[in-house]
Amino acid sequence: MSALLPGAATLGVLGGGQLGRMFVHAAQALGYRCIVLDPDAISPAGAVAETHIEADYLDPVGLAQLARDCDAITTEFENVPALALQTLAGMRVVAPAAAAVAVCQDRAVEKAHFEAAAAQSGVYPAPHAVISNAIELAAIDPALLPGILKTSRMGYDGKGQLRVSTPAELAAAWDELKREPCVLEQMLPLKAELSVLVARGADGQIVHYPAQQNLHRGGILAVTEVPAPGLPADVQQRAIAAARQVAAALAYVGVLCVEFFWLEDGRLVVNEMAPRPHNSGHWTMDGCDVSQFELQVRALAGLPLPEPRRHSASVMLNLLGDLWFTEAGGPTPPAWDRVLALPGTHLHLYGKAEARHGRKMGHLNITAETPEAAHAVALQAAAILG
Ligand code: ADP
Ligand code: MG
Repeated sequence: MSALLPGAATLGVLGGGQLGRMFVHAAQALGYRCIVLDPDAISPAGAVAETHIEADYLDPVGLAQLARDCDAITTEFENVPALALQTLAGMRVVAPAAAAVAVCQDRAVEKAHFEAAAAQSGVYPAPHAVISNAIELAAIDPALLPGILKTSRMGYDGKGQLRVSTPAELAAAWDELKREPCVLEQMLPLKAELSVLVARGADGQIVHYPAQQNLHRGGILAVTEVPAPGLPADVQQRAIAAARQVAAALAYVGVLCVEFFWLEDGRLVVNEMAPRPHNSGHWTMDGCDVSQFELQVRALAGLPLPEPRRHSASVMLNLLGDLWFTEAGGPTPPAWDRVLALPGTHLHLYGKAEARHGRKMGHLNITAETPEAAHAVALQAAAILG
């Protein structure tokens, strides 16, 4: 396809969350018009797009309007029904493709894709087994215990996961997860978690960002640091090569995030992937000369993909709604004036009306000349945030 030139095209987004909002901001900066389809009357992305189509993801009228008025369409979250993407693909450029998103929607299928790509990259997923019926449950290899039982579909931020140590606990956990198809993974001794963002164009060109080191709290991403403070260069390079391989094997178009574990024994394991810009890539908005959202816009529009250049050491702090609550009550906003007095602080709030515990309200990027300096400011910011 020929490129959709900036200033002369309209881009559509399925989903109205914060990732959609930041995509819209990046698209608008380049001069594109944006249309967001989201069922909620008020949404972070719907509020900033030129047009918000308030409709369900499978609503034929809403999808038809999106296809009519947009030149190309993307999705901001992976659990959009694959059928919606397929329907749109019949009419417009859609990236990523429904088939690639479908792989990411199902952990069992995703792991099979990782196994296939590992033949080239040498980076395998965790030892695991699929449990979709009682026979498979009974046949589980005890060597997979202790393990984590994860629903194959719709899990995120640690939701739909239970830790199990014995066959009896496993059976009870599967009951608790309503006997939905699940994947049991061996519990691995993690030394560090990392992710790699790649962007691939329809012409097969792939670019990548540096490896990002991630810290999770309660299953939710809390901190991302780049350059990765605790990861040897060869581990980072292997993760980057594996992520590029995964994207190429999917004939993927757009930004893809691949998560990895680095284990105590030095092994690198591929965990899961997200077919979109990712929370762990938010640092690119301030620490790089091109953000993950601009790369998503470029990939969708068929524009060239520049090799990103990191110009600053970066720390990203996720801002959950919990920060709006103190012992005195809440919700009240944190002392942003004090946080923003610190050098190299860049605040991104998602425009969510109401702060709630566990809700992603925004993120704070901290940039500095050196990782040590960024880290020091991050500690000061965290102290203010409480
Ligand atoms: P989600 O979709 O919720 O992000 P993940 O599979 O990434 O699901 O799991 C969430 C977190 O749980 C991971 O970031 C990691 O900290 C931990 N975790 C997941 N799988 C394993 C495993 N096999 N061994 C040890 N820790 C794990
Ligand atoms: Mg994850």
